[in-house]
Amino acid sequence: MFENKETTKLSSYGEFGLIDLLTKNVKPRRSSTLKGIGDDAAVLDLTAGKTVVTTDMLVEGVHFDIMFTPLKHLGYKSIVVNLSDVFAMNAMPSQVTVSIAVSSRYTVDALEELYAGMLMACEQYNVDLVGGDTTSSMSGLMISVTAIGMAAEKDIVYRNGAKNRHLLCVSGDLGGAYMGLQVLEREKAVFKENPEIQPDLSGYDYVVERQLKPEARKDVAEMLKDLQIQPTAMIDVSDGLASEVIHICKQSKVGCKLFEERIPVDHNTNKACEEFNLNPSSAALNGGEDYELLFTVKPEDYEKIKGHTEIYPIGHITDVEGRYELIPPNGESVELTAQGWNAFGNQE
Ligand code: ADP
Ligand code: MG
Repeated sequence: MFENKETTKLSSYGEFGLIDLLTKNVKPRRSSTLKGIGDDAAVLDLTAGKTVVTTDMLVEGVHFDIMFTPLKHLGYKSIVVNLSDVFAMNAMPSQVTVSIAVSSRYTVDALEELYAGMLMACEQYNVDLVGGDTTSSMSGLMISVTAIGMAAEKDIVYRNGAKNRHLLCVSGDLGGAYMGLQVLEREKAVFKENPEIQPDLSGYDYVVERQLKPEARKDVAEMLKDLQIQPTAMIDVSDGLASEVIHICKQSKVGCKLFEERIPVDHNTNKACEEFNLNPSSAALNGGEDYELLFTVKPEDYEKIKGHTEIYPIGHITDVEGRYELIPPNGESVELTAQGWNAFGNQE
């Protein structure tokens, strides 16, 4: 499908030669990076605030399909999903480390593409790549990224601060990334049947981009600061809205009411859902990988967000611990259940 050009074999480079090649364009730009790549460890000056640290691992065949994932996009996404977790703490990311395990099936050129995408994300979000590890794998590619960020202690937002009557808000439309994945899976199946047929993604740009090149919501923290709102709980939407709402409620020991018609879904996502005969709300609730921020605010902040084009109130918190309600447009409330992404359930 998306051909990754194949020329230089990995075996023609030693480990050190490969690390040098991949990191030759890395230049630290933040003053908190005292020493980046090149020594036994990076040295950071994180004394300006509290430090947040988060790690995410991406495994070929589990989290991504190399048949339809261009490596540059994969590199970009592997950084972005980690930064999203830092933003979800209301912190600012400053450094990342990247560890890769790679099989000899990959070429040096492919890894250069991967790194080009990673470095593009580092530049876009102004973070330094300060280290990592490189090793071989018996099968496929694994990428583990650790992101480090900072925040003033008073600004950090946990998942456990939501209280009765707080409003549940989301920063953007949902379900798009999931529909992008459906389109890519379909084109892969067509291609496998008949390799003469090239994938046709025209008309699906929006959802495919949501899947392949997500962005982390760096701007939301600034937006909320400008509005003088401190969220009471926050999480990023990586596994689908339903499970993220439930995470906040569980940790906050509360319940919620979520209004189905309030869940923002882009018209491109709606269009794709229609074609695939899927319910847009299900795509939003159970799809995942949209990397929007889900947060709660105090009721008195409603005036500040009312009419704001990038903050969507979708429901509210209740004091009935453990009761998670989804209210359909004209219907009786149903129980909100989290299907989400099950890391151990998909291999059968
Ligand atoms: P060590 O043997 O001490 O672990 P390495 O040879 O693995 O050192 O790494 C040398 C330097 O290159 C270190 O600064 C390390 O952080 C960095 N590095 C190694 N692999 C990667 C990678 N995949 N991406 C970014 N930096 C890396
Ligand atoms: Mg090492």
